[in-house]
Amino acid sequence: MDKMLTFRLDDIAPGLKRDNLIRFEKIFDTYGIKPMIGIVPMNEDMGLVVDKKYDNFWDDMLRLKDKGWKIALHGYRHVYANENSGLLQANPFSEFAGITYEAQKDMILKGKEILEEKGLTPEYFMAPGHTFDENTLKALVANGIFNITDGYADRPYIRDGVTFYPCRLSDLKEPSGIDTVCIHLNNWDDADFDSLKAFLDENKAICKSFDDLAYIAPSVYDESIARKEESFIRSKKRRQKAAESERMQRYLQKSYSKNKYVKLVKRALLLPMLLKR
Ligand SMILES: [Zn+2]
Repeated sequence: MDKMLTFRLDDIAPGLKRDNLIRFEKIFDTYGIKPMIGIVPMNEDMGLVVDKKYDNFWDDMLRLKDKGWKIALHGYRHVYANENSGLLQANPFSEFAGITYEAQKDMILKGKEILEEKGLTPEYFMAPGHTFDENTLKALVANGIFNITDGYADRPYIRDGVTFYPCRLSDLKEPSGIDTVCIHLNNWDDADFDSLKAFLDENKAICKSFDDLAYIAPSVYDESIARKEESFIRSKKRRQKAAESERMQRYLQKSYSKNKYVKLVKRALLLPMLLKR
């Protein structure tokens, strides 16, 4: 099979918007697809907490595990410690990349133990912000986690003893090769669920469970994969730059006024437009 799409749910932590999780679960049950959930073991990122009345979070996690959904360790606290962009230069912030091996090993161990106490065994690692480095890979192996949901190649590959399952998509679209799309349920509304259903109807043949990836032999990381990833990083940076300059244009248009004082005030008020990531 040359095209295949799997699904991962990022930012799964107590305080998640439960209604959206249940809605998503029903849809995926209908289509018989088992996605991956990236659970934050010791969440300190209050941006992820929207449903304060959600008190049976861990029961839901166990139910999903029993259903065959894959469990990933989504970092430790989900709080960024520095501006390191990691091996994939994915974002200018990281909880792991740039941190010492010993500290990373400890964070992964503690995170894994928290999930294990709840009856969940993480088989995959999902780095917050997609940022991690060589020490993260070593620390994962030392903790018995051998899979990571990341990478910019078009098929799974093994690097430093860890199998990378590529994850290049943040929107639902047909992949080139084998890919995973990241879904952030807290932000979803009716329109998102409608487009999910329409997408699954249209792309039934290529939408798969994580288990289906087990039938694909990973390649070994080499020069050709490194080149593929570098070219993906270059085109991603070009796209980001274009989006930034488009945002700047919109900002200048919106804040324009013939009166220079009005213009100053408008520019100050509209500043958040520029900071949106
Ligand atoms: Zn996250």
